[in-house]
Amino acid sequence: MQATAPDPARVSEGWERILAALRPQLPSEQAFETWFRPLRPRLVAADLIELEVPNLFFVDWIQEHYLNALSEAVRSVTGGDAQLRFAISPELEVARETNGHAEAAAPPLAPLSPSHPETWGAPRRPPVVSTLEPRLNPRFTFANFVVGPSNELTHATCLAVAESPGLIYNPLFIYGGTGLGKTHCMQAVGHAVLERRAEARVLYISAERFMNEMIFAIQRGQQLAFREKYRNVDLLLIDDIQFLAGKDGTQEEFFYTFGALHEAHKQIVLTSDKPPREIKGLEERLVSRFNQGMVTDMKPPDLETRVAILKRRAAAYGHELSNEVALLIASRVRANVRHLEGVLVRLTALTELGRTKITVGLAEEVLRDYASADAPALTLERIAQVTADHFNVSLDLMRGKRRTSTIALPRQVAMYLARQKTGLSLSDVGAWFKRDHTTVLHACGKIDQVRERDPRVSSALREILERLERP
Ligand code: ADP
Ligand code: MG
Repeated sequence: MQATAPDPARVSEGWERILAALRPQLPSEQAFETWFRPLRPRLVAADLIELEVPNLFFVDWIQEHYLNALSEAVRSVTGGDAQLRFAISPELEVARETNGHAEAAAPPLAPLSPSHPETWGAPRRPPVVSTLEPRLNPRFTFANFVVGPSNELTHATCLAVAESPGLIYNPLFIYGGTGLGKTHCMQAVGHAVLERRAEARVLYISAERFMNEMIFAIQRGQQLAFREKYRNVDLLLIDDIQFLAGKDGTQEEFFYTFGALHEAHKQIVLTSDKPPREIKGLEERLVSRFNQGMVTDMKPPDLETRVAILKRRAAAYGHELSNEVALLIASRVRANVRHLEGVLVRLTALTELGRTKITVGLAEEVLRDYASADAPALTLERIAQVTADHFNVSLDLMRGKRRTSTIALPRQVAMYLARQKTGLSLSDVGAWFKRDHTTVLHACGKIDQVRERDPRVSSALREILERLERP
């Protein structure tokens, strides 16, 4: 399909559209500037997107943190499941180091660095190094998982399941707050099963992607193939099942998939942010099936565990972290392991991939920037307040009966953001605004539709999200 060179203007236009869709999905403007601005599109087609990245670290980081968001953005622009491919471009690395912007890059003079053998004689078009598909993250193994009091029970349960899949705890349901290692532990089961039996069919998928695939299958009349795919696995790992709340059609399909696998003694592992019974809008029959197996939780790790996680992770990136620095970071960042890692990544980036040592002073600096990272989860109240402030309307009006457009738009934006950011169900959000769930559904659909076309809406979303990020 690359017989003719892609038209650069169209490629860049396509990529800009993907970026526009992606931007509001990211946790912060900084994340956008750091991880996506520096990328350079090589090809943007309906079935394949090729991107050049400054270094392998980008691939790793995007894969771990933003793969879902990026896939969704690609899907919203191309209308399908395009494959994502990455190629390392030393030029981009040079551009990033000199001025932080890829566009201003001058081609480097032969960058032959013995410490980066992959850049030797680099061709003008760097080879593709990685194709990202929803698959097991190679790092999410038991060996890389630090066990402490907060997760030992879940860890032990996962080990047991990996040893006898389908036999003891089926399904295994893991719940807990975000960034605590649920996905890691769940995928570790997948790795362990594959290690014992390389031909085992292991399928990992987020509930959201499951739903999207189902919808695509229905649109194309491929329901049978869809069912085959999910009913023919030995181990099904479904991440963030709370996403199915209120999605009745998908729940129904999932219920039958679940039943078929369970009956055939195939193992199912699920994760969620809440225990089954507390997921509002989840059908009772699913709740009771989830409760038939083992339900176990992940809690935020204690200080010692956080220190151990940091040290192990730093070592994996070729850094040594002194006790002092590890303790400093671990005592400031408590609620979320992903944020711990975020600090570490900033630190490693600052020390230029290992050429200088990580000092306490440097760590202090990074932690100052990160002060808001550990902020509590967003509440509906806060989202509504910030949205009201942005549009300069009162909160009471937003919860009131008026339907004039000056008040309807802010209300719809607030409902949309509440759904995106809080995990509350349509009815929860509706109740707060004194509306029913169909109104919320309509609002979300409406905003989704216009957010790319209407600059007032897109800038409102961006600015409100930025404001919500601040402590
Ligand atoms: P969740 O799915 O609960 O939101 P993840 O499984 O994605 O969280 O974990 C977030 C990050 O923290 C991942 O990079 C993961 O490797 C890391 N992590 C979480 N807990 C641990 C742990 N106990 N040991 C090592 N790494 C961990
Ligand atoms: Mg997860």
